[in-house]
Amino acid sequence: MNRTIPGTLGLIFGTIVILVGIFAFLPISYYLAGGYLLICLIAGLLIVRVFCASCPMKRTCVHIIPGYLATFWNQSPGPYSSRIIILTGILFAIIILIPQIVLIASLYLFVIFWICIVIAAISSYLVLCPGCGNQYCPFRREVPKQ
Ligand code: SF4
Repeated sequence: MNRTIPGTLGLIFGTIVILVGIFAFLPISYYLAGGYLLICLIAGLLIVRVFCASCPMKRTCVHIIPGYLATFWNQSPGPYSSRIIILTGILFAIIILIPQIVLIASLYLFVIFWICIVIAAISSYLVLCPGCGNQYCPFRREVPKQ
């Protein structure tokens, strides 16, 4: 199956998630909206640095941007320590959980935010994770033999 389409969709939905979070902060404070954007950029770059830089698929990454950025670190692929996996999870949690404080006040934005996350997660789980070339990723699964 072509992985580029779900990979690109994952990137688009991830971007929408962050934009919805920023949009939810805007009526309260431009500073908070800017602060959330900054946190997402820092957390995203850290994810690329600690996780994607060691990915054997970074030069052909289906999510395009993280793989491209990861090539700036000339790091050989290797297994992830549990510390790196936990840190990556915490960084994703920071991006997702911070806007919940304001999303709770807007049902529409809350629903859009979580629909995008669920679509990105399901498409990764069903299409990208089975047989993924990153054998070190804890979400990778073997493709069942026909
Ligand atoms: S395929 Fe590799 S480089 Fe691309 S997002 Fe996943 S871990 Fe990062």
